[in-house]
Amino acid sequence: MTGKKELAVAAIQYGTVIDHIPAAALFTAVRILGIEHMTNAVTIGNNLASGKLGAKGIIKVEGKEFDEATLNRIALIAPTAVVNVIRDYTVVEKRPVRLPDELVGLVKCDNPKCITNHEPMRTRFATVRRSPVEIRCCYCNRAVSGNKAHIL
Ligand code: ZN
Repeated sequence: MTGKKELAVAAIQYGTVIDHIPAAALFTAVRILGIEHMTNAVTIGNNLASGKLGAKGIIKVEGKEFDEATLNRIALIAPTAVVNVIRDYTVVEKRPVRLPDELVGLVKCDNPKCITNHEPMRTRFATVRRSPVEIRCCYCNRAVSGNKAHIL
């Protein structure tokens, strides 16, 4: 990474920069993060050149850190994303998102006959593959790819 890029990432005082989002997943990521309902300063870039991804998106949100459940939702649709946590202009944490082995209450099962669509219960999916993402409902065994998941 060039010094100039590091500077751009560190240019916010407190907050989160999510980088290496596949361009096609950027606006879903914006929705998952709840950005349209925020008053925080937000910078969104898309279709930026990226050797690894071809075209990538980046989202910077000032004054906000995201919880694990939110970042797990991002991992579903953007398994290549890298989260940078910034405090006092310094990147204090930089880590790729990673889907946990099990997702509880994050995804709606799209099988209309699944018990989770008929009982007041939380859904439960097992991670089958991380890139591209495939998950499987623990109740009815329905497989879902990450970019088609109905994220709760
Ligand atoms: Zn199911």
